Amino acid sequence: MDSTDNKIAVFPGSFDPITNGHVDIVMRALPLFDKIIMAVGVNSVKEGLFSLERRMEWLESVFADEPKIEVDFFEGLTVNFCNKVNAKYLIRGLRNASDFDYEKTISQLNNIIGKDLDTVFFISKPEYSHISSTIVREIIKGKGATDQFLPEQIIIDYETE
Ligand code: ADP
Repeated sequence: MDSTDNKIAVFPGSFDPITNGHVDIVMRALPLFDKIIMAVGVNSVKEGLFSLERRMEWLESVFADEPKIEVDFFEGLTVNFCNKVNAKYLIRGLRNASDFDYEKTISQLNNIIGKDLDTVFFISKPEYSHISSTIVREIIKGKGATDQFLPEQIIIDYETE
């Protein structure tokens, strides 16, 4: 098999920070692909709570034991990044109807401008559907406990935050 035949998927997101909801999606997607690239999208307008370096370090440590998962980042259009890494699939998670409405349009656009780039959706498990990075960031800003929502590798030290 030529390496270009490998089934490569990109899971793009802000991952600010990565949550148990994201981990569940990528682990369920893993059997379908030869490689999944967790790609942190850098938004030049919207700065995150955590730096790009920190978000990537966390991703690296969460998936350290998963040889099929790589961590990268991109600026600009997701389709251009997929082209660069030869990925024919995107992975996204759906928690509710508003995720669906938003994701549907993005997926259709990506399919057109990405020349048949397809998005594979996973419906979140009920125990994760209330988790969002936005809510977790609010809890962190309020110095609340986030351990139920985040992988164990992510330790927020409120003394230094
Ligand atoms: P973005 O800023 O691109 O939405 P996120 O990091 O917030 O990036 O989310 C990336 C993807 O993960 C999105 O498809 C989102 O719907 C999905 N996702 C986020 N949280 C969960 C969760 N708890 N369960 C399932 N999917 C989730």
